[in-house]
Amino acid sequence: MSYDYDLFVIGAGSGGVRTARMCSQQGLRVGIAEYQYLGGTCVNVGCVPKKLFVYASAFSEEFEAAKGFGWELGPAHFDWNKLRDNKNQEIQRLNGIYGNLLDGAGVELHEGRATIVDPHNVEVNGQQFSCKNILIATGGTPFVPEFPGSDLVITSNEAFFLEELPKRIVIVGGGYIAVEFAGIFNGLGVETHLVYRGPLFLRGFDQELREVIKEEVENQGVNLHFSTEIKNIEALQDDTYKVQFNNGSSLEAGLVMYATGRKPNIAGLGLENTQVETKSNGVVVVDDYFQTAEPSIYALGDVIGRVELTPVAITEGMALTKTLVEGISTSIDYSNIPTAVFCQPNSASVGLTEEQAREQYGDDLKVFRSRFRPMKETLGGGAGKVFMKMIVVESTDIVVGCHMVGEHAGEIIQGIAVAMKAGAKKADFDATIGIHPTAAEEFVTMR
Ligand code: FAD
Ligand code: NDP
Repeated sequence: MSYDYDLFVIGAGSGGVRTARMCSQQGLRVGIAEYQYLGGTCVNVGCVPKKLFVYASAFSEEFEAAKGFGWELGPAHFDWNKLRDNKNQEIQRLNGIYGNLLDGAGVELHEGRATIVDPHNVEVNGQQFSCKNILIATGGTPFVPEFPGSDLVITSNEAFFLEELPKRIVIVGGGYIAVEFAGIFNGLGVETHLVYRGPLFLRGFDQELREVIKEEVENQGVNLHFSTEIKNIEALQDDTYKVQFNNGSSLEAGLVMYATGRKPNIAGLGLENTQVETKSNGVVVVDDYFQTAEPSIYALGDVIGRVELTPVAITEGMALTKTLVEGISTSIDYSNIPTAVFCQPNSASVGLTEEQAREQYGDDLKVFRSRFRPMKETLGGGAGKVFMKMIVVESTDIVVGCHMVGEHAGEIIQGIAVAMKAGAKKADFDATIGIHPTAAEEFVTMR
């Protein structure tokens, strides 16, 4: 039986583009469909524009710190339109690069929404293509719970394209996006209120790390409202919103942003025409090798709801390429995935939290921690402190968790993740000579 394509990828995001390119370069005939933007969430409404905004928001603090180093600056003025438009231009450039990458690898791009017609046929723009295998790499989209006034809120998707900045914003949620955007808006001069339903945000991260992040975020000027839920939101006449909380209090704000998680993009995908199984939250069910219950259909990235991070989607794509091209069923190792929350200062983690380590190793643990004023703050005058924590199994000396809050935490923890992946012991850290003067050297001098 001959098909139009060996592999048809639905969704040109982090996972889809990598799988399509790699499979095509290794000889498969590959088609890809994308109905919105090349590069997917990460490039257009995720990691990349977010990090650009994080950079932008950090300048306000830098200007303050500069004074202590002898700089005299005039009154600073921030132009949101300029930042947004420059960001849009950069993203457009990246969209072009993604197009060239696909083209250069020989992948045929179909601009439109793809629907699965049956296990071996996909339709895009009224045209049908037969395919030996289909990959669902459709990612996710923001989830907003329903309540009176939920239609008045924005999500991260809209936050990237605002016509103007509000004077005051209410951000709802306690995950990555809520915490990162609270830092962004606060740094850009918006009075920022972060509302979270639980007692402390960033559930799932190391408890002590979360407490330090809370202190640092509060230090930066973000107003935290924990154990608080929103009852309803009402539009007022002056283009502002009244946010009513469950504890009886209320706030008026120019914008309310919900960052309450994401749901898989499966609407209109045609899964009902296949044996593909989904969970009640829409997550596509796959085995260790990303194969769905329909043998010709695979899925990876955010749509399978495992670890919603770009490098994970890419690694899953590399594994699937090996499976499809070489016929070697390949899975990926989800342990020790490093991750950063780009709040201010950044926070980053790899490996187990202390709570997870205690559950796994009981008292067979040694925990090293350090909290200090970074050198830059001595003249810069800021109140921020660096926090570092290392969790070691006492009997084997193996480092099973490292956590940090501080400038460049993501950059530092990335390197430590390599050591941990290689099974580094505390003795290996101790035997490593530091780079002085850095904050990172603390990780090799903790005793
Ligand atoms: P996506 O990148 O979402 O791509 C899916 C693509 O499929 C989309 O382009 C969509 O338009 C397309 N599509 C959907 N349905 C169809 C259809 N029927 N036909 C055709 N095309 C379709 N991760 C990090 O590692 N670091 C970060 O700093 C980070 N920051 C983030 C910040 C925000 C605000 C958000 C929202 C996410 C962030 N992430 C970050 C997560 C990261 O963006 C995702 O994990 C990653 O993009 C997932 O890749 P994917 O290929 O699964 O899906
Ligand atoms: P998260 O899953 O990280 O957080 C969702 C938050 O919303 C949680 O605090 C959750 O509370 C809360 N929540 C969920 N439902 C409700 C509800 N009905 N009412 C009130 N609060 C609710 O999702 P995000 O949207 O922040 O981000 C999505 C994913 O994207 C992340 O998990 C991450 O994988 C990825 N991402 C990665 C980034 C990075 O690498 N730096 C940056 C941004 C996103 P509770 O904890 O109580 O359940």
